[in-house]
Amino acid sequence: MFCKKCGKEIGDSAVICPNCGCATDNYVERKVVKKEKGSSLVGWSIASLVLSFIAPLFGLVMGMGFKPIAIKENNWKAAKLCIAAICLSVLSLGVLFYVMYFVLNIIETDVDSILGWVYNIYWRRY
Ligand SMILES: [Zn+2]
Repeated sequence: MFCKKCGKEIGDSAVICPNCGCATDNYVERKVVKKEKGSSLVGWSIASLVLSFIAPLFGLVMGMGFKPIAIKENNWKAAKLCIAAICLSVLSLGVLFYVMYFVLNIIETDVDSILGWVYNIYWRRY
């Protein structure tokens, strides 16, 4: 291809013209690809954040999985979202276990009272 600015012939894969330093069409394309990749990482981080409410364990795994990638790519927006997802997942898991503990306690007392009731009927009969 030819440089749009100076008209000199340059390689088809050249990002900038070696003659004048002008950016070629490849430069713009690469920038767009990088931006798309970055926004998809932010998308995955948001997904982790949403999952941290619905399915905390998945949110935690996804947040921990994407955080190092985001940091490696200097995508601080995604990294912050991942950290938020990890924190919220831990919080959600805590709440979930707390609720489960109470629900199980209630079920246990119910089973005990039902067994006691059956036991009483049995002993009254015989
Ligand atoms: Zn040029």
